[in-house]
Amino acid sequence: MVTENYRKVEARVAAACERCGRKREEVTLIAVSKTKPVEMIQELIAAGVRDFGENKAQEMKEKIEQITDPLRWHFIGHLQTNKVKYVVGRACLIHSVSSLHLAEAIQKEADKKNVQCPVLVEVNIANEVTKSGIGEADAVELVRQVAALPNLKVRGLMAIAPPVEDPEENRPYFREMRRLAESIREMGLPGVSMEELSMGMTGDFEVAIEEGATMVRVGTAIFGERLKAD
Ligand SMILES: *Cc1c(COP(=O)(O)O)cnc(C)c1O
Repeated sequence: MVTENYRKVEARVAAACERCGRKREEVTLIAVSKTKPVEMIQELIAAGVRDFGENKAQEMKEKIEQITDPLRWHFIGHLQTNKVKYVVGRACLIHSVSSLHLAEAIQKEADKKNVQCPVLVEVNIANEVTKSGIGEADAVELVRQVAALPNLKVRGLMAIAPPVEDPEENRPYFREMRRLAESIREMGLPGVSMEELSMGMTGDFEVAIEEGATMVRVGTAIFGERLKAD
């Protein structure tokens, strides 16, 4: 079931790349396994999937303890500073750095564990009051501040677009994200590579790919509906 769903999503990712003349390798499909059992993850591992996304620090830690395969775990959720210890050294990439306060807590933990920590800065692209993420106007400053922390590397930006009926409604937001990432890249800030743009979910990942996403985070289309509202 899950594997079949994954293959369908994979085919849609490939078709979207094809449509806009991008190479399939330019886009990482992250299977968002939050709230879903380890058995489903193992089914996908058997099918060759290596990139998984989780949004709760403790849940991610527990899953990693149960699954010994070398996987790439992406932390995509709101991270509280007291949970940073569960994520640093385990996640291959923290997608959701939205404040200097959080970045400093990550720095402290990364220094303690003597690891480098690649991160994305989360931008609240549609300025939704219900969402975390830094406002677009303040994003450059946050990127600069985060990049100045010795154990953090800013690899790019992340955005959660609003829930919409028609994915086309989010195209302008994705386009704006790409423009923002490009303008930051051109600044050539030290410690900032701006090669990743994490955007696009079940409802809008194809449009996100067409607008330049390098990582799409897909949960529902692979694992089915979640019971909990997160
Ligand atoms: C849950 C979640 C997703 C996946 O959402 P779906 O709509 O189920 O694909 C992607 N990104 C983040 C940050 C999430 O929390």
